[in-house]
Amino acid sequence: MREERRAPLSQRDIGLVRGCLGGAARVLALTGAGISAESGIPTFRGSGGWWRNEDPTRLATPEAFARDPAHVWEWYEYRRGLVAAAEPNAGHQALADLEAAGADVLVATQNVDDLHERAGSGDVVHIHGSLWRVRCTGCGRETADRTHPLTVRPPTCGRCGAPLRPAVVWFGEALPSSPLSRVETFLAGGAAVALVVGTEALFGYIRSIAMAARRAGALLVEVNPARTALTPAADVSFRSGAGEVLPALLPERS
Ligand code: NAD
Repeated sequence: MREERRAPLSQRDIGLVRGCLGGAARVLALTGAGISAESGIPTFRGSGGWWRNEDPTRLATPEAFARDPAHVWEWYEYRRGLVAAAEPNAGHQALADLEAAGADVLVATQNVDDLHERAGSGDVVHIHGSLWRVRCTGCGRETADRTHPLTVRPPTCGRCGAPLRPAVVWFGEALPSSPLSRVETFLAGGAAVALVVGTEALFGYIRSIAMAARRAGALLVEVNPARTALTPAADVSFRSGAGEVLPALLPERS
């Protein structure tokens, strides 16, 4: 885990970002596990991310599911329970408030929770899928599923009887194309700001999205208590939690 170095927010940087976020600014918010940390949902690599002494990055794999689908589902049930009991925090809320104030905000999240939607963000794409969707390992059909707790592990497909899996992207798997094309279409219209919040940006495609936003004209703003792979490219870095930083960036109401 990278070392956290929280720092007081620079008023000059806040003023700079606020100035770009006013009116109908087009804003890409690229979020990761860190934005939900203050809602009590652990990141995988941070403290508290381990489940029964198991490394989540080893559980979130096709191999783990092939070996023991019931066990992997038990972990997803635990995560569904955590998310169902959690509330959006001030960081999620600030992005929804920015949209309500007139900005054109696309939230592209790596998170599989639904806290952005529950805060009121209206345009959210899930790059890594959703905890609340399942996909059949036999016929491939994908459906919404909010069952909690499950009656049987693994649950099975009502159409073909094969085991269902969580419709999330596991380590080593290909990304679904539609969230990425939505981001591409959004950036084709230009962007004033890209807010990169709570992600280590370890995946190359996340760094590519941020760099594409920059080429589309966006000020690249990082919100993270720790340095990340994107820090060298960021125009502004705020070294604090999303719940403190994002509300401070909202333009003042006139
Ligand atoms: P990550 O890249 O998402 O890293 C989490 C980042 O959040 C770290 O850089 C950390 O410094 C930062 N952070 C911690 N507290 C923060 C705060 N209060 N405000 C802002 N930033 C904060 O890596 P990961 O956690 O290992 O996740 C790997 C994958 O699993 C990603 O796809 C991730 O989104 C997914 N995941 C999703 C959830 C969820 O849906 N809530 C939870 C865990 C993991």
